[in-house]
Amino acid sequence: LSDRLTATFKNLRTKGRLSESDVNKTVRDIRLALLDADVALPVVKEFTSAVRERALGAEVSGALNPAQQVVKIVNDELVSILGGETRKLRLAKNPPTVIMLAGLQGSGKTTLAGKLGKFLKDQGQTPLLVAADLQRPNAVTQLEVVGQRAGVPVFAPERGNIAGHDAVTGAIEGTRSFGDPVAVAEAGIQEACNKLYSVVIVDTAGRLAVDENLMQQAADIRAAIQPDEVLFVIDAMIGQAAVDTAEAFLHGVDFTGVVLSKLDGDARGGAALSVASVTGRPIMFASTGEGVKDFEVFHPDRMASRILDMGDVLTLIEQAEKAFDQRHAQEMERKFLAQEDFTFDDFLQQMAAIKKMGSLKSMLGMMPGMGQMRAQLDALDEREFDRVEAMVQSMTPFERTHPKQINGSRRARIAKGSGVTASEVNALLERFGEAQKMMKSLARGGGIPGMPGLGG
Ligand code: GDP
Ligand code: MG
Repeated sequence: LSDRLTATFKNLRTKGRLSESDVNKTVRDIRLALLDADVALPVVKEFTSAVRERALGAEVSGALNPAQQVVKIVNDELVSILGGETRKLRLAKNPPTVIMLAGLQGSGKTTLAGKLGKFLKDQGQTPLLVAADLQRPNAVTQLEVVGQRAGVPVFAPERGNIAGHDAVTGAIEGTRSFGDPVAVAEAGIQEACNKLYSVVIVDTAGRLAVDENLMQQAADIRAAIQPDEVLFVIDAMIGQAAVDTAEAFLHGVDFTGVVLSKLDGDARGGAALSVASVTGRPIMFASTGEGVKDFEVFHPDRMASRILDMGDVLTLIEQAEKAFDQRHAQEMERKFLAQEDFTFDDFLQQMAAIKKMGSLKSMLGMMPGMGQMRAQLDALDEREFDRVEAMVQSMTPFERTHPKQINGSRRARIAKGSGVTASEVNALLERFGEAQKMMKSLARGGGIPGMPGLGG
């Protein structure tokens, strides 16, 4: 996928204007690329038509050239389908929080139970894993091993009971349950209540293909334990089968979030796009290996960049953002030439524009050669921005347009009003002075050396 899209965008980059046939050609290339990556056909259709519509409707008059606009549209659209902002786990008001795992056999549920347990334990929670996969005698043992590795306790049915049940019914692995998973899940929750565990993670059984009985079993467990979250675990390598599987679990059990597993393989992101698009449920976590630590919070923007390939396309996005800033700078220049003063309101606006770029930070982090850009963004502490904003908001309109008139007593009042120290107000005024100088050099025709108003 990546190579193909990179080639597409390379072609685009050399063009100055984007005609309808350019858009159509690009959209055709993107369609092929997505199909290549095993994105399900209906999803590909929906995606490409959204991109085409926005690309054709986009104003070409802005500071972005048409190629940059299409790149931004493709990226925005991907991020939005993949869930926009990352959603966090919903914790119950009255512990324990109950998290149930569902998915096909081999998708990575049991492994995930350990990872999630450790993740939550590291956040100060006290998790308990519950072995409600009684489909295979081995499954309980596997969860116990996983729990041990993660340093998280496991609640499992009594071994004697399983063995006894086994002996009585003569159940054969895979054909018959070795106990009542609903009862075990309920007992696990009761155990968590008694011993004050804060989170319960319930592992369940799955078949290699969607299976009515097991789907019903999962639905029964869900109904009995009323989980706060039901996480559907899906192997990122599943390809075109992603849509059918996800839909079966959505209707059979229903889930509140998705975990993509085996992203360490050469999965190309197709499943992520398909599942998110078809179910509308957020992808919350990603599993990236067999170890307990191979686990991360899912970032839609990073996944979008994985799908779009890292190098070239992101450079284009970055250029697009820069161009946007330049347009803003031109407005500043106009103001200066018109003898209008650069005010604190302008300053605040400028900082907000730079803060917005902070969302690019995570993507930039994945790219080679982005050191300088990253360093500048790293220098932008979001809390610092909030403090600056508070200070400017504590200024009167007169002060914002006449910063030189801000004397000692005004400074003290601003500091008090915004809850910062007087020396922070002094530092801000100093930086503002530098920003004003910057605007002057810009008006003389110089570039933008660094990001005005920041650093220090
Ligand atoms: P379950 O049947 O859904 O409980 O799946 P398991 O947790 O037993 O995992 C099935 C297999 O996939 C095991 O061999 C795991 O070690 C492996 N596995 C699980 N998650 C990942 C992952 O993110 N990456 C890789 N490479 N292997 C994984
Ligand atoms: Mg399992």
